[in-house]
Parts: sequence; structure tokens; C-alpha cells
Amino acid sequence: MKLYINEKYTYLFMKVVIVGAGPAGIYAALNLSKHAKVTLIEREERLGGTCVLYGCIPTKSMLHPLISLKQKTEFTLHSLRENAINSINTISKNLEQLLLSHDIEVIHANGFLRSSIVNAGNTSLAADKILITTGTRREKLDGIRFTEDLAYSKDDYNSVIVVGGDVGGIELSWMMRKLGKEVHLIDKNNALLQNVDNTLSEIVTNYLAQMGVKLHLGRSTSKINSNSVVLESGEIISADSVFVTFGRKPNIEGFEEIAHNKYINVDEYLRTQVPNIYAAGDIIGTFTAHEAIYGGIIAARNILGENREFLVEGIPKVIYIHPQIAYVGVMSGKCVTLNTLSLTRTIIEREDEGFLKLCARDDRITGAVAFMPNAEDVISIISILIRYQIPLKDAVNLVLPHPSYLEAVTEALMKLES
Ligand SMILES: Cc1cc2nc3c(=O)[nH]c(=O)nc-3n(C[C@H](O)[C@H](O)[C@H](O)COP(=O)(O)OP(=O)(O)OC[C@H]3O[C@@H](n4cnc5c(N)ncnc54)[C@H](O)[C@@H]3O)c2cc1C
Repeated sequence: MKLYINEKYTYLFMKVVIVGAGPAGIYAALNLSKHAKVTLIEREERLGGTCVLYGCIPTKSMLHPLISLKQKTEFTLHSLRENAINSINTISKNLEQLLLSHDIEVIHANGFLRSSIVNAGNTSLAADKILITTGTRREKLDGIRFTEDLAYSKDDYNSVIVVGGDVGGIELSWMMRKLGKEVHLIDKNNALLQNVDNTLSEIVTNYLAQMGVKLHLGRSTSKINSNSVVLESGEIISADSVFVTFGRKPNIEGFEEIAHNKYINVDEYLRTQVPNIYAAGDIIGTFTAHEAIYGGIIAARNILGENREFLVEGIPKVIYIHPQIAYVGVMSGKCVTLNTLSLTRTIIEREDEGFLKLCARDDRITGAVAFMPNAEDVISIISILIRYQIPLKDAVNLVLPHPSYLEAVTEALMKLES
């Protein structure tokens, strides 16, 4: 450990170098900054990583204006893109200021390890501890568009083919259909979200079909072109553009000396096999920004000497269409289903029916899925019950506002107990 001096303080701090300024790296840096001298290496010009520049922020900025619209929309792809670019620029700039105000040094360079020493471009940096948060990247393929390209493109389309019916594919298909485009959604599974829950899968698949999305399910692709897709059956589907929604690659290059399979191997404390080197976020194989943020915070605490486990149980997942789709845990044990027409809030807001399905075993909630307005909040409450292992008999002490969609949780808990 060394003596570090800045204009405000002289202090004896450890030096931590973080590689990658996405959600994991940024949250780790902020958590470390009160107790350590932090340097953040980022190879992109702008801060925020996949989430801010290509993922959560642009997609949700484009989806959000369409959420409350029951009628045909006045929005165009162009106006939604402006929304996305404004959000990206504002959030990325805010992050620069935030890091500056926490005295975090940012170096824009390619980071890599050589014999456990971290390098930023041509400069090797002294560090007591190192955190790798390099996330994933989209590999460019000639003529193929990906979800990440949508906010940055200028093209408009009358028809699109979406390849991949997972979270990103459902959001993109919903958005394009709301904009009045002809949408083809191709997925190799026979129904959407079939690995999550049967009820959810059936309802969401029917919902998209009723919206007019042309579903090509149980179909694998043999060739993807810029304007057409050849299915394994030989059938060709054509449209103005094709968007691929899966297949990001971990940014492991430069860090191969750390034990890894596809992703970097870490223990429950987010330590790699090399002493003093930690990893968090998508580079360890998680897939959401909130897991990356949580991982960044846990890694930071452990770097500072705490002993906190990264708990994977009960992390919520959300699909931002309307009604929202959200889910958590595993659907095992006794399950009850609540139709949201029984909630006064649904009547007040003239919403269509939706549902919450909640499962429990041995006095503990195991999982839940919801397709309803505010599903993210409903499922987040259930996530807390799961993560804190609150027994069912204590969960009935939850008091949630009336008239709210959150009451789905208390209603379902009552059903489960009866
Ligand atoms: C289209 C899309 C939509 C999404 N929507 C959501 C959503 O709504 N909600 C949600 O929770 N998640 C969403 N995600 C997932 C989310 O973006 C990721 O889980 C999250 O960004 C992971 O954060 P991270 O910090 O681990 O890595 P990243 O955000 O990928 O950041 C890694 C950073 O490291 C930098 N880097 C990599 N290698 C090096 C190197 N060698 N040297 C220097 N810098 C390097 C990269 O440039 C990048 O800035 C979405 C993803 C996509 C693609």
C-alpha cells in the first residue's frame, strides 16, 4: 500500500485498478472511492458500457413512449431514436461527472493483464487489487444488423425479421409491431419463454400472435442475410431488414491468464484464482445490468476486506413491453394464479386482464411470473421474499398500498395459504 496525495487530502490507501466502465465497473469504482485510490480503464470514448451505450438505455428509451399507448402511435422509429440518443448522451455525461466528483481516475485505453500486472495501452499500472469488469461485445458480421445497431441507424423499415425470441427479441418485436411494421419473429423453441413457465409462455406467445407478430416457432435458421432468413426447412422469409438479438461474446481477450471457460471463473466472493484479482458482471456469466451492479458492489466490498457472498438466488428479470413481463426464481412446489382483474387498480385504469403466478414449497416462496402492469415492482417484492428467505407465515405481514398493482402479491399469498 502506498501514500497517495491529492489536492484535498494526504492518505494511506490501497490502489485499485478496474478494467471496464459498464455498470459493474462503475458501481465498484464508486463503492471503492471513499477508501481506495481508484483507476478505471475503459476502451470506449464514452462511459456506461453495453447497458448505457447499446443495451438497457437505448432500448428502454425507445420502448417507453409506446408503453401507455392503446391506439395506433404517432411515434416513428426516427423520434424514438432521438429519445434513445438523448438518454445515452445524458447518462454517459452524468457518469463522467459522477466519477470525477468521486476522484476516480479514468484512462481511455485497452486494458490487459501480463503476469498479473494490469496494463492500460502501453503503460503498466501499479495496483494492490485488480477488478475485471469487461462485459461482453457484439461481433460485427457483414450486412447483419443487431438490436444494438437500432438506435444508431437512420434507416426505416416497413417489415422486419427478428431472430431470437428471448427477452430482447420479444421487446424488439413488440416495439416494431406497435410502430405498425410487419414483424416476423423466429425462434428455435416451440413457444416463447418456454424455459421460464408454461402459463407465461402460452399467454405471451398468444399475446404477440394477437398483436399480429408473425411467429415462426420451432424453426432453426440455416442462413441469415441482411434482408432474408433461410430456415432449415428451406423456407425463405424476406423483409426490409433482419435483426439478430442473441450471441454476444465475453471480452476475455487480454485476460486469458485468469482461469476461465467461456467466462472468467470466480468463487462466491468474486475472487479469481489469482490472488488480489476479482471479476464481476457479464464477464463472469451473468446477463443483466442489476446483477452487474450488485456484483460490482460485492467485489468492491470484498476488495476492501469484507467477506460478502454473491447470492444468485431470486434475481428478478423484466421484459419491458406492455403489459410488463417479469419473473423470478424457479416455478416449483404449490402454485397459485391470480387474475389481475380482481385488483381494484386494474378496474380504475381500465387495464386488460393479466396474471401473477406464485409458487412455494416448505413454507418458502420458490418463484413467480407476472404479466401485468408494474410487473417489475410486483416481482421485485417477491424477489425480496425469496432472497431473504422469509417464511410464508411472516410474508403475510406485508402491508402494500391500496389501490395498487402490488396488492397482487398479498392476494396471491393469501391464496397460497388457503
Ligand atoms: C440490447 C440489450 C438490451 C439490454 N437491456 C437490459 C435491460 O433492460 N436491463 C438489464 O438489466 N440488462 C439489460 N441488458 C444487459 C446489460 O446491458 C448487461 O448485463 C450489462 O451492461 C453488463 O454490465 P457489465 O458492467 O458487466 O459489462 P458491460 O456493460 O458490457 O461493460 C463492459 C465495459 O468494459 C469495456 N471493456 C471491455 N474490454 C475492455 C478492455 N480490454 N479494456 C478496456 N475496456 C474494456 C467495454 O468497452 C465496456 O464499456 C441489455 C443488453 C443488450 C445487448
